[in-house]
Amino acid sequence: MNVLVINCGSSSLKYQLINSESEEVLAKGLCERIGMDGARLNHTPAGGEKVVIESPMPDHTVAVQMVIDALTDANHGVVKSLDEIDAVGHRIVHGGEKFASSVVINEEVIKAIEECNDLAPLHNPANLIGIRACQKIMANVPMVAVFDTAFHQTMPEKAYMYGLPYEYYEKYKVRRYGFHGTSHDFVSSRAAEILGKTREDLKIIVCHLGNGASISAVKNGKCVDTSMGLTPLEGLIMGTRCGDIDPAIVEFIANKENLTVSEVNNVMNKKSGVEGMSRVSSDFRDLSKAMDEGNALAKMALEAYTYRVAKYIGSYVAAMNGVDVIAFTAGIGENDGRVRAMVGEYLDYLGCGIDAEKNAIRGEEVIISRPDDKVTVMVVPTNEELAIARQTVALV
Ligand code: ADP
Repeated sequence: MNVLVINCGSSSLKYQLINSESEEVLAKGLCERIGMDGARLNHTPAGGEKVVIESPMPDHTVAVQMVIDALTDANHGVVKSLDEIDAVGHRIVHGGEKFASSVVINEEVIKAIEECNDLAPLHNPANLIGIRACQKIMANVPMVAVFDTAFHQTMPEKAYMYGLPYEYYEKYKVRRYGFHGTSHDFVSSRAAEILGKTREDLKIIVCHLGNGASISAVKNGKCVDTSMGLTPLEGLIMGTRCGDIDPAIVEFIANKENLTVSEVNNVMNKKSGVEGMSRVSSDFRDLSKAMDEGNALAKMALEAYTYRVAKYIGSYVAAMNGVDVIAFTAGIGENDGRVRAMVGEYLDYLGCGIDAEKNAIRGEEVIISRPDDKVTVMVVPTNEELAIARQTVALV
């Protein structure tokens, strides 16, 4: 079965066509600048060269048609016709409290996703546009919605409630939801599998460290806590997001800098994190290089970043009354040995540490703790697209 995995943003559309039996990626690509000048499609067939197709994309329906045309093209296509696309899996950012697992998309589901728009105004409407566009072009192909929030729906009340008046939860569903759920689910399962154990018998902490970053505590196969909240701004210090701060800072900075609340919100999302702290970059390769060159702010940002990760690990050890496995994943977690080593310096009390030699790897499944350590520390590359494809197949 061939599954088209779609991750649709307001002006972009990422896709992968995955064969579910071999789990091979047949082709992948990205439509950029949809609805703007200079729209283009980057398409890469497996084992082939990247093709760039520049053509106007006034809306997402045109973009989806271009993706189908690229996938079925005589030269750079990978299937003969639309008939060889058996299902579509859509990544949906916010499922609110309505979705604790993936679902087959129908009108009722679309309505329920729309009702979550308030909670993710930048993402959910765009995800829905992607669903509608695919429905227009592929009317008879079954589609599945896979939610970033679903895996975290098992969190207990004590973990997801904020210390705010209860009416905000009653009226607006203000609570912690968590994101990157597909990745936390995939990585915790895979970590158990690599160790030859079942996830149900383990306490696992997953550190998903990418541009956006979050940590989760997975106890006996279920998420019991995660660092992101109502929105993906809470928790760790990220590339450009501030993570946890004193909420009173919002009013303080708004007054001092003469900004509106939404302008401060924009600063906290796009101009903060290690980029704002270091004045260097949100990219950890640049940050690490700057630190080596003696840049004190880059060093401070890296130290604050890894300290925050270590503190969250500690709090989740407390939440689960122990830990068996700590898994690093996503762009930084998979590739940045320095960040892993800096976090590792705080793990002594758990009876584990990071083996410098094993930690020299990038992007591989490797155990990086020492053989006799009480807790296994490992790198487990995430694969959200494959996870979406698997869940799509399971439902259709
Ligand atoms: P996204 O959240 O956009 O999916 P990724 O998980 O792909 O992000 O992570 C992207 C980030 O990973 C980059 O911004 C960079 O900081 C980091 N990264 C990627 N490759 C490396 C590397 N070789 N060394 C250190 N950091 C890296």
